[in-house]
Amino acid sequence: MSLIPIKSPAEIEKMRAAGQAAAIVLDRLAKLVAPGVTTGEIDRAAGEFMAELGGKSAFLGYRKFPGQICISVNEEVVHGIGGTRRLAYGDIVKIDTGVILNGYIGDTATTVPCGAVDPETERLCTATKKILEGAIPFAVAGRKLGDLSHYIETEALRQGLGVVREFVGHGVGRKLHEEPQIPNYGRLGSGPRLKAGMTLAIEPMINLGAEGVRILDDKWTVVTADGKPSAHFEHTILVTENAPEVLTCLPLIA
Ligand code: MG
Repeated sequence: MSLIPIKSPAEIEKMRAAGQAAAIVLDRLAKLVAPGVTTGEIDRAAGEFMAELGGKSAFLGYRKFPGQICISVNEEVVHGIGGTRRLAYGDIVKIDTGVILNGYIGDTATTVPCGAVDPETERLCTATKKILEGAIPFAVAGRKLGDLSHYIETEALRQGLGVVREFVGHGVGRKLHEEPQIPNYGRLGSGPRLKAGMTLAIEPMINLGAEGVRILDDKWTVVTADGKPSAHFEHTILVTENAPEVLTCLPLIA
């Protein structure tokens, strides 16, 4: 039996703070995406932005991951490493940010167009964002996690998109990856029953083409097997008895 941590009110306060820090950092990084900027420059900025907020990267050093953030371009799905690559007009850039603040982690990701992107890629990005937004309301106390996973899968398939299966969302809190795993596919009524106080990172990874992926020689970067683009959006949410609380939304007054 797996134990899914239930956060105390004091821990939830810390999760809120970490989530807001992650959201602020992600928002600032997204604004740096422009033709000619390197992924390494965005990675370095991430470290500075996190430090300004009193936090640090939850990814740097995790299983020896070398970056402050994951930054993945076009056919790269997740876990890309910032470097010398210069962004080009028409790219899509997935930025995934995990921030540790006072011992707790906020984890959030978005997909940013670099200038205008082709219509099919834009459709992919819009659909993936909407799928995340549509999935979040399933994260309420009493509901089975499989219902949320099922929603993501069926919405993606209905739109002719591929669902990445090898990488999944997850519980998050003191540790980056806690129970439960949150696949982006599943059966209605399956999986653990959600309880108030669980904090979950929900993160659909959706491909324009087929679902298959492979890992590059750097041992980290996941790419689509068919070379078509992939989109990724993620929020850390708190399960409550009522509507879920998105912990990684931007504060109204930053
Ligand atoms: Mg995550």
